Amino acid sequence: MARRDYYAILGIPRGAGPDEVKKAFRALAMRWHPDRNPGDAEAERHFREIAEAWDVLGDPEKRARYDRMGPLFTHDGKPPRPEELNEILLDALGGLFGRKKPGDRGDDIRYTLTLSLEEAARGAERTISIQRTISCRDCGATGDAQEGRAPCTDCGGTGRATTRRFLRNDCPFCAGKGYKPAARCPRCNGETRTVADETLKVKIPPGVSTGQKLKLRGKGNDGPGVPGGVPGPAGDLLVLIDVEDHPLFRRRGADLLCEVPVTFVEAALGCDLSVPTLDAVTTIRVPPGTPSGKSFRLPGRGLQSPDGKARGDLHVKLAVEVPPALDEAAKQALLEFSRCAGGECHPQKRAFAEAMGARPAGGKSA
Ligand SMILES: [Zn+2]
Ligand SMILES: [Zn+2]
Repeated sequence: MARRDYYAILGIPRGAGPDEVKKAFRALAMRWHPDRNPGDAEAERHFREIAEAWDVLGDPEKRARYDRMGPLFTHDGKPPRPEELNEILLDALGGLFGRKKPGDRGDDIRYTLTLSLEEAARGAERTISIQRTISCRDCGATGDAQEGRAPCTDCGGTGRATTRRFLRNDCPFCAGKGYKPAARCPRCNGETRTVADETLKVKIPPGVSTGQKLKLRGKGNDGPGVPGGVPGPAGDLLVLIDVEDHPLFRRRGADLLCEVPVTFVEAALGCDLSVPTLDAVTTIRVPPGTPSGKSFRLPGRGLQSPDGKARGDLHVKLAVEVPPALDEAAKQALLEFSRCAGGECHPQKRAFAEAMGARPAGGKSA
C-alpha cells in the first residue's frame, strides 16, 4: 500500500503546531465518524485514514520519525489495528462519542526513609507502613452497594448500548454498569476507594545518598473507579532517602572522610593509630614527624559507587590537638622540651622569623 501523506489527509501544513493538528483531527473525526454516517463505507474508510494520520501526527515522537523518513515510515512494522485505533480515538476525543476513557491514574505517595550511614553503605531492607487509597473491594470500585442492585433492562445487564456502533458505547441508561444501584456502598460511601494501612518491604541498594528517590511502581494510590469501567492505574510510591549525619565520617560521593585527633607527641614520634572504618576499627602507621592535616588514604574503605562498579576510599586526616589546659608537671615538661628543641626542630618557624626579621621594627601593633 502506498504511504499516504498524513498532512494532506488532515489538511494541515507541515509546520502545523500540536493544537492545529488536534483541531483538524477532531473536526474531521466528527464529520466522518461512522456513528454519524451509519452504513456509509466511504465515511468509515475516511475515518480510518484520519485516525491513522492522527496516530502519527498527534504523537511528537512518531511525527518526528515520519517527518524524517517520509515514505519509508512504518508503524513499527504495521499500521494500528482497529482495536488500537479505538484506543487512539478515545484518547484524543475523550467522551465525545459517549464512551469514557479509563479512569485517571492514582496519585503518587511520597515517603521519607531515614537511614544511618552504615545502612546506606551496605544496603538494607526496611519495612515501612503507609496509608494507601485503594479500590474499594466491597463494591468492586463502583461506589454502589451490592445489595438491591437491579439488572438494567435496557441493556439486559451487559452495560453495552444495544444499537450497533463503530465504537463500543456504554448503555446510556445504566452508564455501562449493567444494573441500577439501590444505595451507595457503605464501606467507601460511594467514593469507589477507601484508605488502608499497608506495610511494605523496601529494598535499599548499597551506596544510596540523601535526596535519592526509589520508585516502587504501582504502590501509590489506586486510581478512582469509573462507572461501568476499569479504575485508573495506581500511582507510584516514591521513597525519598535521607542519610543521617555520622559522628565520625563525612561523605564526599563514594568517599568517606574522617578527621582523627592526635597528640603532638604521637605526630612527632610516630605511632600506630587506631582509626574507624565503616565496618570495624583498623590501625594505620603514622611515621615520625607527620604534620597536622596530613591525609592517609585507605583504598576501597568508602561506599559503593551508585553504579555499583567501584568502591570509594576512606581518607583519614590527622589533626594535632593542642592541649587547652596543662597541669604543672606537664607545663614543666614542655618547658624542658622547649629548651632542648632549638630552631632546627621547627624549620618552618625559623624560616618565617627570618623573613619577618627583614622588616623594620617599631610599627604600631594592631
Ligand atoms: Zn444498561
Ligand atoms: Zn465501595
